[in-house]
Amino acid sequence: MDFSEPESWARLRCEAEEFVAAHVTREVIEHERRTGDGVDRALTRKLGKRGWIAAGWPAAEGGAALDPFETAALWDALRKGGVPTIGPGTTMLPANAIRVTGSAELKARILPGVAAGETLICLGYTEPAGGSDVFACATRSQRDGDEWIVNGQKIFTTFAHLADYCFLLTRSQPGSAGPRGLTMLLVPLDSPGIEIQAVHTVGHERTNIVFYNDVRVADANRVGDAHEGFAVMRAALEAEQNVAPASRTGLVAKDALEFARTHRGADGVELINDALVRERLARMTMEAEVADLLGLRAAFLDAEGNKPGPSRRCSGRRVTCGHRQRRSTLRAPRACSTGPIRRARWTAAWTRITAAPLLRRFTADPVRCCAASSWRIGSDFRAAVPAVNSHET
Ligand SMILES: Cc1cc2nc3c(=O)[nH]c(=O)nc-3n(C[C@H](O)[C@H](O)[C@H](O)COP(=O)(O)OP(=O)(O)OC[C@H]3O[C@@H](n4cnc5c(N)ncnc54)[C@H](O)[C@@H]3O)c2cc1C
Repeated sequence: MDFSEPESWARLRCEAEEFVAAHVTREVIEHERRTGDGVDRALTRKLGKRGWIAAGWPAAEGGAALDPFETAALWDALRKGGVPTIGPGTTMLPANAIRVTGSAELKARILPGVAAGETLICLGYTEPAGGSDVFACATRSQRDGDEWIVNGQKIFTTFAHLADYCFLLTRSQPGSAGPRGLTMLLVPLDSPGIEIQAVHTVGHERTNIVFYNDVRVADANRVGDAHEGFAVMRAALEAEQNVAPASRTGLVAKDALEFARTHRGADGVELINDALVRERLARMTMEAEVADLLGLRAAFLDAEGNKPGPSRRCSGRRVTCGHRQRRSTLRAPRACSTGPIRRARWTAAWTRITAAPLLRRFTADPVRCCAASSWRIGSDFRAAVPAVNSHET
């Protein structure tokens, strides 16, 4: 296997670093740290001007005609430079599905805005009762003339509070089950009947619960055929297998390593010289490496015209990157601790940097904060509270 990088990757990284130096100000980073929004509208437009949002699309469609590897190298550098990429990155998943399965009118109306960084689309798959099982979808859509009437509830609809549309999975055939009888709708998020409530995660993201009460959606905003939403979703999942490979796990592991290098334990020994700390840091770093390699494999398959797809071998990437990424934020404190005191010190330091606003919200509204992600995150969050309180007092 040849791991050497072509020249174009270095050039794109360099361009991305120049972009970061010019546009990712302290205010941008502070705002993202404070809100966990995952998107900065002004910055997203600037990315769009360069054709970097839909980087793999032809220039005539507002892209930069990059191959999957180049796209990955570019987005890796942007993410590392602090560009909030969740919003624009997520938008490209439904955008690619619309490009493949949408009507000509829908494509012409939506996709230029996406490529320009003007239009943001969030994902409305997950429901409170379904979790990972998206085909347990119970949000209903009922045809009424030229419109659909939508009723139901989604959870974890990340950046719904800032997006223009939600790519919404609905059950359109009453009595159907599993992947049958589903219809995908592109719902304008300023429609009457939509209520968005914040959910703050310990991983520092803001996500949302979204309620749909008798929301009317034009049939022109249907993506793909009625009751064939699974085919549309499949196109979006294929795109999801090939998002930029760099996982945030690597960034968290790097921060944890820096912490271990610059802090001592209660016994006066540098954390980095503790065998257990080293082993845990090594484990985190290896997991990040595996996630990145799986990402490169997905990009390779895509470049070969062989869509990785949700059911192929690269589906492990989604599991590896997604789960590791969320877990790494929690693992970092553990990696740097061999006992409760060290763990509390890391937690306090980490919290001071990123999570203090979240913890304040947590103490005010523990249920909402803990709703995100998993109970493991919730319980770690609870464990962190006394450490932070003692740090602050
Ligand atoms: C921060 C964050 C942002 C998200 N953003 C979005 C978004 O924008 N849009 C959206 O639609 N969704 C989003 N999600 C949802 C996410 O993609 C998952 O679908 C969802 O978190 C899974 O549900 P759950 O957390 O309730 O876990 P559960 O479904 O309860 O799963 C718990 C554990 O069991 C495992 N598990 C579940 N089923 C099986 C099985 N059949 N076999 C083996 N193991 C299994 C899971 O892998 C997991 O480890 C987000 C989630 C988080 C935490």
